[in-house]
Amino acid sequence: MPEYDVIVVGAGSAGLNTAINCAKAGLSVAALEEHNKIGFPRHCSGLYSTRFLSLMEVKEDFYEHEVFGAKFHPPSGKIIELMRKEKVAFVINRELLDDFLGKRAKECGVNIISNSKVSDFTADPNGATITTDKKTLTTKFICGADGSNSFIARSLGFKPPHRLHGIMAITKDEGHSNYVDLYFDNKLYPGFFAWRIPRGKTTEYGIAGETGPANVNNFNNFLAKFDVKKYELSSGVIPFGFQKSYSDRVLLVGDAAAQVKPLTGGGVIYGMICARIAARVFSDAISKNRFDEKFMAKYQKLWRSAIGKGIARGLLIRKIYSRMSNRSIDAWFSLLNNRVTKNIFENHGDMEFILERRPHATVLNQPSL
Ligand SMILES: Cc1cc2nc3c(=O)[nH]c(=O)nc-3n(C[C@H](O)[C@H](O)[C@H](O)COP(=O)(O)OP(=O)(O)OC[C@H]3O[C@@H](n4cnc5c(N)ncnc54)[C@H](O)[C@@H]3O)c2cc1C
Repeated sequence: MPEYDVIVVGAGSAGLNTAINCAKAGLSVAALEEHNKIGFPRHCSGLYSTRFLSLMEVKEDFYEHEVFGAKFHPPSGKIIELMRKEKVAFVINRELLDDFLGKRAKECGVNIISNSKVSDFTADPNGATITTDKKTLTTKFICGADGSNSFIARSLGFKPPHRLHGIMAITKDEGHSNYVDLYFDNKLYPGFFAWRIPRGKTTEYGIAGETGPANVNNFNNFLAKFDVKKYELSSGVIPFGFQKSYSDRVLLVGDAAAQVKPLTGGGVIYGMICARIAARVFSDAISKNRFDEKFMAKYQKLWRSAIGKGIARGLLIRKIYSRMSNRSIDAWFSLLNNRVTKNIFENHGDMEFILERRPHATVLNQPSL
């Protein structure tokens, strides 16, 4: 008899949410984390839409700041401001959020095993094992939630079609504005954008672009523009595009499955949506005694029906944007700068789900699969 129903590899937001939902469904769950402390090292800005709160319980202690809109800086320098009367997003301390999720998972009965790097696994119709630097565990299912450089995904031969390198610097300068600044310029920040996020007691400067030294150079030039010299640096890979996320006894969740918005690089909300779906599929598979890839494939169908449209539209816009000249970017932004667009944003703007209409509603409200 296997020791666990599900072993989750990686105790980040996607893995912990999967573990919590599996435990709530009555499954026995362990979550293995290579680091000693959950949530560290920092690798996320923690900018989430207010709708985030409706997806999970988040304590107010995690809020560093709140945001009502954005200032867009196109290459021409003609700033476009889109603001709402109510909050559109919170700047959250991601480390505290993950730590909280870890505590919630423990309360739900998840066995969290820190300091355990997974270095091998087997998964076939006969059973599954996970090997860490300390021991080998047996399980019915494996959830690969081990982030953008997922060992589980790589071992299965799955990889995201696209990858960006995100770098962020947090300074001790207080940031109290009620908007984020977004900088677009295909010469200075090719293919993506740079940002400045007010974090209350601190300010964050960030950039994402193709992996490699050119992106680091662009980031340093961006910091120099604001005369930023002292900062705390962190960075990470942002995967995106459609990727296979299932195999015999295995599901991938979060960055490991490239469940990320191609337009903004945000992956936390998508990861949470897919975590709930994965937990339902694990639970359903156990009740039906099915461990085969054919059964697990329903996970991909379900998450694609929840967030696939948003990803597809984001991919298309990114493709068009990355080929645009700065002159076209200016022309495009000047089209946005009118009363109609501002009215739409002021009355209906939703930072997270800007590309889709209530993507999660159909799937998440379904009582069973
Ligand atoms: C600079 C930057 C800024 C970002 N800002 C935002 C933002 O504002 N909003 C947003 O929504 N998204 C943002 N993202 C994306 C977001 O950080 C990711 O989508 C999110 O962290 C993915 O969560 P996850 O749980 O899938 O992976 P992770 O949070 O990466 O968790 C994976 C966990 O697995 C562990 N692990 C890895 N390998 C192993 C192993 N072999 N054995 C055991 N454990 C292992 C890791 O230690 C880690 O704890 C940003 C990304 C970057 C790079």
